[in-house]
Amino acid sequence: MNPPQFRIGLGHDTHRLGAVGKPLLLGGVLVPHECGLIGHSDADPLLHAITDAILGSLSLGDIGDWFPNTDPRWKDGDSALFLRHAATELVNRGWEIVNLDSIVHAERPKLGPFKRQIEAHIATLLGLPADRVSVKAKSGEAVGPVGRGEAIQAEAVVLVSRRSIG
Ligand SMILES: [Zn+2]
Repeated sequence: MNPPQFRIGLGHDTHRLGAVGKPLLLGGVLVPHECGLIGHSDADPLLHAITDAILGSLSLGDIGDWFPNTDPRWKDGDSALFLRHAATELVNRGWEIVNLDSIVHAERPKLGPFKRQIEAHIATLLGLPADRVSVKAKSGEAVGPVGRGEAIQAEAVVLVSRRSIG
């Protein structure tokens, strides 16, 4: 059986809102809001979901395996480091990202005005053309932890391909 030329990865993450005085980061972009997200690192659910999707595409475990939240090195850590680390592991194994799609679930703040900026920022972090990255935003329809404004969640899926040789 020929080895596969394509693989996919899936990521999901949740962080609780309520970190007073902490900036709200989504996809590495500062989004003005009255509070930030609670977590050991900078608590960016979108970058965490994308990092997990990249790791998952090659069955490399998850973000907690690579960056344990018990490790003081990652306290208030920049999640862009996690993302870049996963992307470097992918490249080092001979793979590249074809495209990435994602959803951020947040009742507030409204993310529509920030989607394009977040897409562009993630593309830059990954060294991809902007049209390979998609960020969509959904409200929680006033139900569940997202709808009650208690949490922000993110999902990501990534398609990767073997890098062509020569
Ligand atoms: Zn997280």
